[in-house]
Amino acid sequence: MDLFEKCRQYTAARDAKAAGLYPYFIPLTDSEGTDVTVGDHRLIMIGSNNYLGLTTHPKVRQAAIEATRRYGTSCTGSRFLNGTLELHLELERRLAAFMGTEAALVFSTGYQTNLGTISALVGRGDFVITDKEDHASIVDGCRLAFGETRRFRHGDLAHLDRVLANLPEDVGKMVVVDGVFSMGGDVASLPDLVPVCQKYGARLMVDDAHSIGVLGGGRGTAAHFGVTDQVDLTMGTFSKSFASLGGFIAGAADVIHYIQHNARSLIFSASMPPSNAAAALAALDVMETEPERIARVNQIGERMRAGFRELGFNVGMSETPIIPIIIGDNTATFKAWRSLYEAGVYTNPVISPAVPPELALLRTSYMATHTDEQLDRVLETFANVGRALDLIA
Ligand code: PMP
Repeated sequence: MDLFEKCRQYTAARDAKAAGLYPYFIPLTDSEGTDVTVGDHRLIMIGSNNYLGLTTHPKVRQAAIEATRRYGTSCTGSRFLNGTLELHLELERRLAAFMGTEAALVFSTGYQTNLGTISALVGRGDFVITDKEDHASIVDGCRLAFGETRRFRHGDLAHLDRVLANLPEDVGKMVVVDGVFSMGGDVASLPDLVPVCQKYGARLMVDDAHSIGVLGGGRGTAAHFGVTDQVDLTMGTFSKSFASLGGFIAGAADVIHYIQHNARSLIFSASMPPSNAAAALAALDVMETEPERIARVNQIGERMRAGFRELGFNVGMSETPIIPIIIGDNTATFKAWRSLYEAGVYTNPVISPAVPPELALLRTSYMATHTDEQLDRVLETFANVGRALDLIA
């Protein structure tokens, strides 16, 4: 049997393309944040994680340009060897201060941060316990770790309690949750989660990819709930509010030091390019000096949630600027995506197996830089498409 036979048999994507229902890998011709073009088709972007709209902020753009001028385009090596610039260390110091932790460590992507952190810490005989809706990079970090993985039902802390109660007492344990869940836009209830972890001596790691820059004055989910001291590790990414690419883990100095010397995704992969590090630093400056952006993106979230609900759409448990529009059927979701796309609104369809088929959804997410006029247009377009496709009355 030829290994490549499965590739020849794989027709799902081509079939969807032939039916005009293929929504992936669409190349944007131009992108200015909230406004994008595909050829000469103009769309309002509500499928991006650019929450604060900083990809086009003059200071962030300029910082990336200046870093490229000074250091060139790449570090051409790992943080471990030739790929650490003073710029990376400055970013780590600034992040630790911002997050209120002793130390922080910068990786080349958020994905690698989860992969490296979890696999470095969860060794043979240890356990990692995850929420069923945790991000794929957490799932993959667990698969790479030598320790065992247990999962609990999404947000079900009684279930987590039972899972922890069934583990041996005298082993290392770490619970890992998303602070804001990337598809549902709901927030992990850390004040309820912390005591369950403490009861069983489990460490707690929070993936704040979608929370930093959005919740807790930009400092994330723990700050939002006032439990910063009770979260052991916070992971963040630069590919969303920070308008760059890269990721970080923040926590106690000895733990960060251990990860720094044991995370294979850090040691065996090239470091963040200078332009990305400089853009992330500039974005951090803007988060501190322009808090009105954080307020604005949250206000937009509230406004859009109310607007969609009023139209009769199901927005699930969203509490943040991530708002799923639950359609509940794969084909209907693709059809709604296409109609919205043709009418000039860019959304992301999420279907099974990424979510159960009854939860197939259009993921919408907002930027501080969306104008009220754009948001009105989005709601009006959803109303028209929703009625035409019988999704709403
Ligand atoms: N964690 C979560 C919750 C995410 O949504 C993402 C990105 N979609 C990541 C981690 C990975 O981040 P990055 O894009 O920086 O690799």
